[in-house]
Order: sequence, then structure tokens, then C-alpha cells
Amino acid sequence: MTWLDTLTAKALAGEPPAREEALAVLASDNDILMDVIAAAFKVRLKHFGRRVKLNYLVNIKSGLCPEDCFYCSQRAGSAADVLKYTWLKPEEVLATAEAGVAAGARRVCLVASGRGPNDRDITRVAGMISSFKQDHPDVEVCACLGLLSDGQAERLREAGTTAYNHNLNTAEDHYGDICTTHSYADRSATVEQAKAAGLSPCSGLIAGMGETDEDLVDVAFALRALEPDSVPVNFLIPFSGTPLGSRWDLTPQRCLRILAMVRFVCPAAEVRLAGGREIHLRSLQPLALHVVNSIFLGDYLTSEGQAGNKDLDMIADAGFTVEGAAAGDPGQSGTEDGEPAARHPDLVRIRRRGAGTDIPANA
Ligand code: SF4
Repeated sequence: MTWLDTLTAKALAGEPPAREEALAVLASDNDILMDVIAAAFKVRLKHFGRRVKLNYLVNIKSGLCPEDCFYCSQRAGSAADVLKYTWLKPEEVLATAEAGVAAGARRVCLVASGRGPNDRDITRVAGMISSFKQDHPDVEVCACLGLLSDGQAERLREAGTTAYNHNLNTAEDHYGDICTTHSYADRSATVEQAKAAGLSPCSGLIAGMGETDEDLVDVAFALRALEPDSVPVNFLIPFSGTPLGSRWDLTPQRCLRILAMVRFVCPAAEVRLAGGREIHLRSLQPLALHVVNSIFLGDYLTSEGQAGNKDLDMIADAGFTVEGAAAGDPGQSGTEDGEPAARHPDLVRIRRRGAGTDIPANA
């Protein structure tokens, strides 16, 4: 039995890996990358089959945050040229959320910049959520509004909110290097508050912020201890005008190893491939679907994501199916049972360049 077999058996049994095993995943060689992915895929398959859940972000209040999270384009003093606006009108929030649902999202995530909401903010967001749920009772709503005060999680729950997102982001030991205006303990307390109120806890991390392998393993185990239902894994989007704007530490292979490590540590959690996947995984994005069971569709909070139809094609081409989609919907795989996907006539392009023409060759 190899160490990967042992790790897989533990994850399939719901047991955590030893810390050294989690570190070994991160330290593993590219020569065994496909073995690592295949091992993580067994765990994914057990809990989620070949389904991919689509989530859709709506940034309901953008920029101008008083906090100083070094990775964030919306932080105090950010010179990143991102959209800045205060609370969107409810009708705009609902229309944007509905666009995501129409594209196949089964969870809508309403996100607001800021340290945390006041009670008036909660009233405003709760109203948006209850309106949305009236029309879409089967679509989950996740709120992400920052640090919560007493009673706020309960009010969100009463309005029909499914989940609350608050990421730990990095290891406790590394937290002071990425933020000075609030603490790691503040973050974990908010996740506990949301959980105590009956909201589904969603908490994840950001990789690529100068952390060590030990930090990544620490945050993964800390997340496991919080028992989140979903774990978004972000890869740093290095916005110019932020303190981490010049960091570019990740390779596609490292991203895959990080995702696999998180899958082994949190085997039954919805592991979500989140911000930064397009720029860091690039052409290896489809491989990540063998490890994660959830992605964001569309754009991120302040940066643009891959076109939604490209995501749906990627899911179908890799032999996965969109969670909740009916047969024939976009994103339903035509390849899983051996049937070819619908023919794309646009993919066959007659050559009009290079040899035999006056137009430069494609090289
Ligand atoms: S991550 Fe949230 S709290 Fe931190 S600066 Fe950005 S919007 Fe503010």
C-alpha cells in the first residue's frame, strides 16, 4: 500500500490524514500529480458523484471598506481601480441573482464589503433574501457580510438564508501578515455564530499569499475543526494597488495539490474552486473538477471570471454534470454515457492562413 492509498482509505472512512500526510500531498512531485488527483477523485466520487454545484456571486456593496485585508481590492487605501458602490437597490440584487439562477446556479451568494453589518444592514439584506426566496424557494442563499454581532445570524436565518460565508483565509500564525484590523479569532467566532444560529457554515482559504505549506495545512485542519459544510479555496488574485499586488507564487500544479490536500482533510465538505482559478490553473482547470465538486459561475466580486458558457462546456467536456440541471440543460454532459456532446459547428474552422495564403502562419 502506498502512502496515497493510506491517505485515500482514511479520507473514504472520514478520518483526517496525519499532518505529515497532508504536508506530503503539498510536497509531492509533479511526476505523481495524476496519482494525487486520482486519489482525491475517489473521495470526491464517494460523496458527490460527478456533480458540480454552481454558485453565483452578487457583490451588493463594493469597495470602500475600512478594514485592511492585504489581499483585498476593496480594502482601506486600495488603489485598485475596481467598482465602488454602496448598497445596491433590492431590485438590482434580485435581477442579478436571477441571471445566475437562469444560468444554472443552485446557490446565490450575496456579499457586501465592510467589517460587518449593523442592524439596519441586516434588515436590508434580510428583505432582499426573503423576496428572493419567495420566487426561488429551491435556490440556496448564502450571505457574506463580515463579522456578525449577537442576534444577526438568527435574523438572517429567519429571512430564509441558507448559509453564511466567512473565510478563515489563512493559518492563525500567518494572519497578522495579511490583516491588522481584525483577528483570526474574530473570523472563527463569526463562523461559530453562524453555525449556532442554524446557518450552514461556509469557510475557506486563500492560497498564494506568502504562506508556507505548514500554514496551508494548519488552516485546512482549522477548517475541518469548524465543520463547515462548504470550503471555498481561493487563489490570490493579485490586484495592482494592494499590498499583495505583486505576488505571483502559484503554479497550476501547486493549485491542484492544494485542492487535493483540502479534499483529503475535509473529505465530505463541498470543496469549492473559487476566485483565481482562471488565472492560476489556466488550462488545467478541468483537472480540478476531479477534486472539487463546486465552482463559482460568472464573475467574482471585483474581477471578471471566465464566460459562463465556457464553464458549462468545461464541465460537460470533462464528463461531469451540473447539480440540479435537467437532461438537455446546458452543462449536462453528453460524454458520460458515451454519447458525443452536441456538435459545435463553430469549432470546425476552415484554414485561411499560412501555407498557400498570403497570411502569416499560425506559429
Ligand atoms: S476582505 Fe472584506 S473585510 Fe477585508 S478589506 Fe475586503 S471587504 Fe473589507
